[in-house]
Amino acid sequence: MKALTLKAKNYRNIKELTINPDPGVNLICGDNAQGKTNLIEAIWLFTGCKSFRGSKDSELVSFGEERADLEFEFFSGGREQSAEIHIDKKRSGTLNGVKMQSVREMIGVFRAVAFSPIHLNIVKGSPEERRKFIDMAVAQSRPLYAKSLAGYNKVLKQRNMLLKSLYSNPSLADTLDIWDDRLASYGADIIIYRYEYTEHLKKEAVQIYEGLSSSKEEFTFEYVPTIRNIVTDGDNLSEIKADRGKIPFDESGKPQYSEIKRRLYMNLVKHRKDDISNGTTSCGPHRDDFEIKVNSVSARSFGSQGQQRSCALALKLGEAEVLKKLTDTSPVILLDDVMSELDPSRQDYILNRIKDKQVFITCCDSIPALNMCAGKIFEVKNGEIREYTKK
Ligand code: ATP
Ligand code: MG
Repeated sequence: MKALTLKAKNYRNIKELTINPDPGVNLICGDNAQGKTNLIEAIWLFTGCKSFRGSKDSELVSFGEERADLEFEFFSGGREQSAEIHIDKKRSGTLNGVKMQSVREMIGVFRAVAFSPIHLNIVKGSPEERRKFIDMAVAQSRPLYAKSLAGYNKVLKQRNMLLKSLYSNPSLADTLDIWDDRLASYGADIIIYRYEYTEHLKKEAVQIYEGLSSSKEEFTFEYVPTIRNIVTDGDNLSEIKADRGKIPFDESGKPQYSEIKRRLYMNLVKHRKDDISNGTTSCGPHRDDFEIKVNSVSARSFGSQGQQRSCALALKLGEAEVLKKLTDTSPVILLDDVMSELDPSRQDYILNRIKDKQVFITCCDSIPALNMCAGKIFEVKNGEIREYTKK
């Protein structure tokens, strides 16, 4: 996967730009608020995902302009391809000259992994941030996952609507069974996808963290699904505490779909009363979490800034490695402001780790290690970009 040419017009503070990046390292330097993040955000949009900054499409158009236009040539799937994205009230685009129904069609066509300060929320933020990270990562490598997830979310919404109406109309309670069964089916798919992805990811991330910390710290990453093992005992439902959050496996060591589905269903049944009075579904994959630890303690509660940054980076660079293994091609790496807060040995490790991929790195200072690597340097000033010739 390589970005070959990017053209942008009226994109945020970039009036007009054409760049031909290096197939290796591209260093994007400049003072604060000059347009460095804007540049890599423009490349990111060709993954088909929304801005990693969580911005609305309309915010991407330069102030006072009607629309923004991006043109992109890239190498993917063994050939050169081209895409355009136009943003006015919403996004539209073409892929190899053909109009796309939705820019989401680019998912899996151009693959990139971005790391920006906002991704520190994977470590510091709520479980929702971790689920978002894993969901996006699984979807890029396993496009069918997005379908299971959309199915689950749709059924969850319908179940929640039913719960709210049950309060005033209890006779509808019988229909809960159908929704619980569907929710458990989609939910079991999601748990298995997340589990399998996490197994790949943790292998890579542990190794990267070890390199980042020069083997001085131990990093662990675990999937913590909310499923509990509920059994019936006459009319009572009781929980087997020893199995809390554990995934059941079959004899060959694979997650056992039927048992996961049964547990999810039983969890839904057990919590029905509370769910009806709260008008919301209290258990299932929409409440899953992922545990990130350094030296056996929670990185969220006890990690230093550098450790938290290293955890997020290990997970993001791990995501790139998993994508490479599962899809046979390296994604493009977009690193926004990663070097700050990292000591020189961690900076060196990152540069070595990514040198086989195309990478875009933004930074304010001229970091000596970066200047020494082969590749191109771009200087960004007030939305204008020029290639800087190394001395
Ligand atoms: P930092 O080093 O602080 O991260 P940066 O170079 O990454 O800075 P960007 O985030 O790329 O800076 O933003 C550059 C400028 O773009 C900001 O001054 C911001 O106000 C401006 N900007 C953002 N959106 C728009 C827009 N829609 N139209 C015009 N300017 C915009
Ligand atoms: Mg920035």
